[in-house]
Amino acid sequence: MTEKDNKKSPEMIAMAEKIRRGNRRALARAITQAESIRKDHQEQAQNLLTELLPDTGKSIRVGISGTPGVGKSTFIEAFGRYLTGLGHKVAVLTIDPSSKRTGGSILGDKTRMEELSRDPNAFIRPSPSGGSLGGVARRTREVMLLCEAAGYDVILIETVGVGQSETTVADMVDIFMLLLAPAGGDELQGIKRGVMELADLIVINKADGDLIPVARRAASEYRGAVGLMRPKSKNWTPKVLMTSALKKVGIEELWQTIGEYRDARGADTELKEQRAEQAAAWMWSEIDDSLMNHLREHPQVSTMLPVKEAAVMAGELSPTAAARDLLAVFLGK
Ligand code: GDP
Repeated sequence: MTEKDNKKSPEMIAMAEKIRRGNRRALARAITQAESIRKDHQEQAQNLLTELLPDTGKSIRVGISGTPGVGKSTFIEAFGRYLTGLGHKVAVLTIDPSSKRTGGSILGDKTRMEELSRDPNAFIRPSPSGGSLGGVARRTREVMLLCEAAGYDVILIETVGVGQSETTVADMVDIFMLLLAPAGGDELQGIKRGVMELADLIVINKADGDLIPVARRAASEYRGAVGLMRPKSKNWTPKVLMTSALKKVGIEELWQTIGEYRDARGADTELKEQRAEQAAAWMWSEIDDSLMNHLREHPQVSTMLPVKEAAVMAGELSPTAAARDLLAVFLGK
């Protein structure tokens, strides 16, 4: 079989067609392939993605971040059910770099989103386990595209604040939402400033019962804090909302606000540009990763690496000179 035949194999075309028709089993199979570390699977996954690329992008991509216990699962369950009730198809993806095959995941340990997981118009995919944040992010981006091709028009990407995971999610969505507990003061200080700056929406959850006054106070404190930050877009100042995921209050208003955000930033202009930039940044990070892998796997370089590194650590060789020597070998100069 020539390379060209292989790229457009009848099996792949058939699989693409099934995905376009929203066949969940085909979608799940394609995702498994995209998540596989086998080179042939990855090759097939790339061919399929290329084929499906014209069918992607017709969704709103929403990032949701919040520390454990803030109510993410309860919120996504309520929000997801509300959206499927409106006739949307919702995909929930998770980026959890702590997730390992052996357990220890922050998000995956309990049964989450029970109702939503039984909803025929919802598709829930946990974080791929193991691997670096970069690897997990790449696979999540690909899964997002596959879900879009399968007709999911709302993509929710959830993360818990591990390492750089919030930035990673913010870099692949249209709107980034920070879910917070109803508390202010010290807690406000405890949130990483960088993370606040990523947020397009701040949602104070658990605004119910006795917590309502605390939630109101927190909301007004965050409004003040947001007012002091330089907005990411001249067309949007981050908004602070309150919800009760448990009592399903504030969900409709939140969805309306997402609509306002989309209108304000222009789905065909500013948001389109943001997606274009995200795609280019993704390409560069693929190049970075791939180059580094090639470098480390290069036979001569891999023998030289420990020697040069030891010399640098011993102060016998300057880091710049060592890097140059290694790159010269890698590039065959
Ligand atoms: P996650 O760790 O962020 O996914 O949080 P969960 O959704 O598992 O919720 C953690 C706890 O907070 C659970 O006991 C929920 O019942 C509770 N919870 C979630 N949302 C709300 C809410 O809106 N109001 C109240 N009072 N409790 C909530």
